[in-house]
Amino acid sequence: ARQFTRPLNELANQFNTLLSAVAGAERVFEILDEDEEEADETDAEHLPITKGEVDFNSVNFSYEKGNKTVKDISFHASPGQTVALVGPTGAGKTTIINLLSRFYQVDSGRILIDGHDINGMTRTSLRQNMGFVLQDSFLFEGTIRENIRYGRLDAADHEIVEAAKLANAHSFIMKLPKQYDTVIKQDGSGISQGQKQLLSIARAILSNPVFLVLDEATSSIDTITELKIQDALQRLMEGRTSFVIAHRLNTIQKADQILVLSEGQIIESGTHESLLKQKGFYHDLFHNQLQQGVM
Ligand code: ADP
Repeated sequence: ARQFTRPLNELANQFNTLLSAVAGAERVFEILDEDEEEADETDAEHLPITKGEVDFNSVNFSYEKGNKTVKDISFHASPGQTVALVGPTGAGKTTIINLLSRFYQVDSGRILIDGHDINGMTRTSLRQNMGFVLQDSFLFEGTIRENIRYGRLDAADHEIVEAAKLANAHSFIMKLPKQYDTVIKQDGSGISQGQKQLLSIARAILSNPVFLVLDEATSSIDTITELKIQDALQRLMEGRTSFVIAHRLNTIQKADQILVLSEGQIIESGTHESLLKQKGFYHDLFHNQLQQGVM
């Protein structure tokens, strides 16, 4: 159970191994729930999250004492906004997401959701409202239907198909010999990286979260699947507050707000246009790296 409190990037790597060891999605939720009980503050409340407004107020955090990983992070995200986190590897992008998801707790400062300090919320109430679409897709050994249903365990079969259609996954699923009953293998054989992403988008659509966390793929995905992913993501992000660890130029350009991170600090923020005009770090990053797709 402790594995679930590990940071997002490790979590993504471990998810397959971990999930294959358990019987199915319901067992996963049992494990998660056990974990919640020990980890929540005793006075934590099951607060409803309705708007999806996020505030970081002077947040500081270190994984190890004396070595600050993120420093004085402050920003405001309005409901429905897309916030792109950009910056070099190790800048602190994943850490900010880990703090927002309460995989870790801030050392000082506050994170507010809809005006409530997340330290006062149960992890369940927080995560029930968050959808994750990560680079290394969160799939476990089980059928495609089970993998999508993990987004909402009480979903009916027709709702799973509906979500798969919205995620542009239905057509490839129907071409598989066993369609929704196709078993996803531990080694991922049978479906491509891009198709796995489509399945995780279907799952997120089914769970209907207020917040989204997207970690864009850096690995190459064929152009047609890539277009399907972009199209499905656009649908998924509509009306939800989204945090994107962004590597793709078009995502970054479309973001309502770009937070440029370097060595744990927000060194610039704004829209793509305003940041280019500043001719600062983002401008240089954009010209040196972004165009090569290695941002
Ligand atoms: P990014 O997502 O921008 O690549 P991260 O947030 O993953 O950056 O990492 C920020 C810094 O924190 C890096 O120096 C990284 O080595 C360190 N770090 C990340 N996870 C851990 C961890 N679990 N324990 C200790 N240090 C970590």
